[in-house]
Amino acid sequence: MNSDLLHAKLKENFGFEKFRPNQETIINTILSGHDALAIMPTGGGKSICFQLPALVLPGITIVISPLIALMKDQVDSLKTNGISACYINSSQSSEEQQFYIDNLKSNTFKLVYIAPESLSYLDSIFNQLTISLIAIDEAHCISSWGHDFRPAYTNLGYLKNRFPSTPVLALTATADKATRTDITKQLNLKNPKTFVASFDRQNLSLEVRPALDRVKQIIDFVQNKPNQSGIIYCLSRKTTEELADKLLKTGIAAKAYHAGLDSKLRAKTQDAFINDDCQVVCATIAFGMGIDKSNVRWVIHYNLPKNIEGYYQEIGRAGRDGLPAETVLFESYADLIQLQKFASEGLNSDVQLAKLERMKQYADALSCRRKILLSYFGELVTENCGNCDICKKPPIFFDGTILAQKALSAISRLQESEPLAVIVDFLRGSRNAYIYEKNYQSLKTYGIGADISWYDWNQYLIQLINLGYCEIAFHQHNKILLTPFAKKVLFEGEKVKLTTVIKKTIDKAESKEA
Ligand code: ADP
Ligand code: ZN
Repeated sequence: MNSDLLHAKLKENFGFEKFRPNQETIINTILSGHDALAIMPTGGGKSICFQLPALVLPGITIVISPLIALMKDQVDSLKTNGISACYINSSQSSEEQQFYIDNLKSNTFKLVYIAPESLSYLDSIFNQLTISLIAIDEAHCISSWGHDFRPAYTNLGYLKNRFPSTPVLALTATADKATRTDITKQLNLKNPKTFVASFDRQNLSLEVRPALDRVKQIIDFVQNKPNQSGIIYCLSRKTTEELADKLLKTGIAAKAYHAGLDSKLRAKTQDAFINDDCQVVCATIAFGMGIDKSNVRWVIHYNLPKNIEGYYQEIGRAGRDGLPAETVLFESYADLIQLQKFASEGLNSDVQLAKLERMKQYADALSCRRKILLSYFGELVTENCGNCDICKKPPIFFDGTILAQKALSAISRLQESEPLAVIVDFLRGSRNAYIYEKNYQSLKTYGIGADISWYDWNQYLIQLINLGYCEIAFHQHNKILLTPFAKKVLFEGEKVKLTTVIKKTIDKAESKEA
């Protein structure tokens, strides 16, 4: 369609002057009858890509969405723009659902939003409808490799078979190459044109901190940002509640949000957050899909995320107004071990473990984090970003050979049978019950590293693991084993470069994190 005409439609119906990147080409692809896969970051403007064609095309546009809670908002906002739309989902009685179904037949609506679970209602009238476009929002929900898998999505492939000449537009904010292929295959898309908008969000600063004392770090962080809204993502429901409590006790307006809470309470929390009545939401990943709040100023990951897609989507909820926003990820070894356990026990364990490994590499990065993130999404960046912790404070390397020798020989003295925390205690000569019970204080290298803090040793050992000199036996109580490379350091004079522990050192000798 002629570009001037499309711009006129955009202005007339949505009040926007120009298209965002890819919107116009996606729209033209659909209008010419082709299937398309649109990958755009959250806030990139996916909705216009099917809403505008819906107005131009003669029949009805079906929009499949998992976000029941948001359908009403979307339909209401279309109606304010004078566009007739309705939604059908399980929040309505079956009479109500039937009412809309009957009205679809009379062609009163240009768009119908429908939850995948309610789609079967349409079966009986499919033959009586002129369907011009099928849009599948949050299309990554079809892939069990992704992080929002919805079983009801796996049935959607039949739509293309049923309506072979109707264009299908799949939309998502999160799809690496494997997920993209999976979406295309499962939806039976026909030679879809794929559009990937740049995922670069320069206004988001990126930072990774060690998780030691993270509650205190978070309280300091939030107290430094009065009136700035933020989200703290936690792995477990329990953590969201505990953390919200701890923040509340220091006077920070925080609420917990997770799928186990009553839906009324959840809606209330969401509203309070959107209306700036609640500064901080401590949430599981259940929070945020589709939340349209443009002034979220920061996002913290209390726990290591399962994969980069999820992480990127979650930090993407900050700074949607384009103004600077901060993101902080806390990296904890205990989290990694737990996630590794989950991943290895779940579906597609190989893929999940590989994704987790990429997440870990990101967290352990010693070069520009944004480069790593964008390369994950297939974008090549040559310049360092200047807005991540590594760019702002590049790591300083030093000769850590002696430290490495001490650590590796400690592991050897302990017969490769102890986890990281015990090795640090042993190196530091801690006098705790476990050490005495095992009589470790009588071994030769006990206390050989007493001059270095618990925290720093912890970091150095993690670096040694990342360098490949030792490894964690996940299936054997996380004991630390030496790899064949350790020999080179212990007996063959190999030099080891470590980086100084750049993060502020918290004096927490002996203690592990609460
Ligand atoms: P997504 O679904 O990709 O997260 P939305 O479709 O909800 O994003 O769009 C995000 C915001 O950007 C909305 O407030 C929308 O009105 C706005 N928007 C979309 N397209 C444009 C445009 N071409 N010009 C200006 N604003 C736009
Ligand atoms: Zn950078």
